[in-house]
Amino acid sequence: MSEMDGPAGSPVLEINELRMVYGGRAVVDGLTFQVKRGEIFGLLGPNGAGKTTTLSIVEGLVRPVSGGARVDGFDVRRHPFEVKARLGVQLQSSSFQPELSVEQIVRLYAGVYGVRLTREGIGRSLGTIGLGEERGKRFKQLSGGQQQRLALSIATIHSPTLLLLDEPTAGLDPQSRRALWNRIEGLRSGGSSILLTTHSMEEAQAVCDRVAIMDHGVLITVGTPAELISKHKDDPDVLAVAHGQVTLEDVFIGLTGSEIHD
Ligand code: ADP
Repeated sequence: MSEMDGPAGSPVLEINELRMVYGGRAVVDGLTFQVKRGEIFGLLGPNGAGKTTTLSIVEGLVRPVSGGARVDGFDVRRHPFEVKARLGVQLQSSSFQPELSVEQIVRLYAGVYGVRLTREGIGRSLGTIGLGEERGKRFKQLSGGQQQRLALSIATIHSPTLLLLDEPTAGLDPQSRRALWNRIEGLRSGGSSILLTTHSMEEAQAVCDRVAIMDHGVLITVGTPAELISKHKDDPDVLAVAHGQVTLEDVFIGLTGSEIHD
């Protein structure tokens, strides 16, 4: 293993002094944080906080004004191919051809990522996401939860080191949401580290080892959900919004303001 493959214990993602400006306004403004190997890390923030821009920089889709990001030790600008090979990104369901069958989609993306899959292998992997009976169905015939499970399965077809999930459970019913949390934990057990964005404090608490709260492009606080509650439970802004015992949501609203961002 070369030094750049990232020895155990080294961060799987390093965001360093990242800055992005649109129309003269800094939307990511000196952002620094790390995701540890084997961690499920939640990036929380109101709409417009800069979460998607940050993920887009890690994916190499957006070039930052300054600062940088490293995946498994590889700089996202200087080593885009090494980064892409290690990164799994969940595509929006609109990215898939609605007329293709489930099996055709799996074969297509296995080809894109250079992964060899036998007919039996495809059957097994569809079975693990509850789509064993659906392999001949067209994508557009799947339910929302099924489409979402297929999208996650495709994002992880090449066993990525780091998986980026932008609001993975938005729009899912409670059963599908819980099934997805189990799947995310399963992917972590399988060796992936996960960075997800969410608006759900319940989700952050249920699956994230650590969370970062950001707003206006700036990191406000980072820690385990329990640490954030204990660290901020006596902040006047948090107490002002709490109803009874302070929750992670109270901390979030206290630190980012209760005005609606949209
Ligand atoms: P979040 O994901 O936290 O909701 P975003 O990263 O999508 O936040 O957006 C942060 C800010 O940057 C928002 O004010 C958004 O309008 C702005 N923004 C994002 N992408 C662009 C773009 N391509 N051009 C101009 N402004 C953008």
